[in-house]
Amino acid sequence: MRSKAYNQKKIVIASHNKGKITEIKDLLKPLKIEILSTDNFNLKEPVENGSSFEENALIKSSYVSKLTGIPSLSDDSGICFSDLNNEPGIYSARWAGKAKNFNLAMIKINDSIRKIKKPSYDCFFVCALSLCWPDGSNVTVSGKIDGKFTWPPRGDYGFGYDPIFKPMEYDDTFAEMDPKLKHSISHRAIAFKKLINLCFPSLKH
Ligand code: IMP
Repeated sequence: MRSKAYNQKKIVIASHNKGKITEIKDLLKPLKIEILSTDNFNLKEPVENGSSFEENALIKSSYVSKLTGIPSLSDDSGICFSDLNNEPGIYSARWAGKAKNFNLAMIKINDSIRKIKKPSYDCFFVCALSLCWPDGSNVTVSGKIDGKFTWPPRGDYGFGYDPIFKPMEYDDTFAEMDPKLKHSISHRAIAFKKLINLCFPSLKH
């Protein structure tokens, strides 16, 4: 597995989500390899019918690597609110509807939390990353960051639910902080560290 990762010249990111692609490209920069995304190919999205972030990540990476013949890296992520029985979770993208309207999704979350008698506002982001080769072998890992729900939404950086997520021990939301800081502490950064340790140990700092 490791030697395969060492010799990698190209990786296809299995995503059409511009926010995710930007963050992943940034995190992969030290690898100095060609990074493509599914926008470079004429591919439909696979049905994400897994029951966990990890299962959905593997569905995406195995689908793209098989069809392109190139190793593929996917990200399946989302936000979970304790007051909402950890919803939206793996359905985080779907809460924004077909129009991917995250302002509406954030309003829906605020409305739902307001109905709870004694909300804790506890929440966490999860990111599962899956690197899969065309033969189906894969490395799949995940990262988690705890935080608090904040309302109203704050900040213009980032994407998705960043404006309502304040990581523990920080005063800023993910959307207010310098993206470099978010990229160094986020659920995605934690998952990336695990992936780098397993597949690209020479890059560990
Ligand atoms: P999926 O992994 O493509 O199913 O989409 C997950 C959804 O979760 C994204 O569309 C975002 O709305 C949300 N999400 C995942 N990671 C982040 C993040 O780092 N910041 C904000 N929202 C995120």
